[in-house]
Amino acid sequence: MDYNMNNLVPYIPASEYDTVAEEFLNEFYADALKQPMAVPIERIAKDMGLDVQYVCLSEESDIYGATIFTDGALEIYDPEEGLYDTKEFKRKTVLIDPQAVKKTNTGCKHNTLAHECVHWYKHRLYYKMQGYTMPRMARYCKCRIDQLPYSTEEENIMESQAIGIAPRILMPRATFVEAASQYDIVYGKENWQAIYALAQVFDVSKQSVMIRLEECGLL
Ligand SMILES: [Zn+2]
Repeated sequence: MDYNMNNLVPYIPASEYDTVAEEFLNEFYADALKQPMAVPIERIAKDMGLDVQYVCLSEESDIYGATIFTDGALEIYDPEEGLYDTKEFKRKTVLIDPQAVKKTNTGCKHNTLAHECVHWYKHRLYYKMQGYTMPRMARYCKCRIDQLPYSTEEENIMESQAIGIAPRILMPRATFVEAASQYDIVYGKENWQAIYALAQVFDVSKQSVMIRLEECGLL
């Protein structure tokens, strides 16, 4: 894989998202490439050495996940006290806000977990280098429902990569198309039965299935 050597952001054109998702599964759970299944992303995250914690990240539920690349403090929200609080976390910690996840496009905890796995898998070198060049800056990424206008170009590129690759890990193209072929999916029609069934098979949200069907040219 190529990196921009100035900042270590990987070059991944959208046309290669499927390939990267396959590489990821080949490395961590190759069985998911053989037959349609619910990809055990919690287990994969654990095998990658990630410590997944479910916490509230913001008052407005607009941050749905975070990956921590170096030991350090991170601000989280305490809904009972109604206050932001700074807490120390170890590198390789993934934080998921279950309330905020519901507000995302895909509305699915598994997708968010896959998204954070992509950040660790592909973006840790970038954040490692940030640690050397700007030691006072935080070395974690917070994933927001709406990307902020002041996000850097690098952050936007990496966020797009994680958004694009995560559902492809949970619904690899070949097995997804195979599973979808068992249903009579008709372009331009309502295909709720198929969408519901595929959401069950892959254990993802119905919105995720709809987006994936469209990407694969099936809807
Ligand atoms: Zn993200």
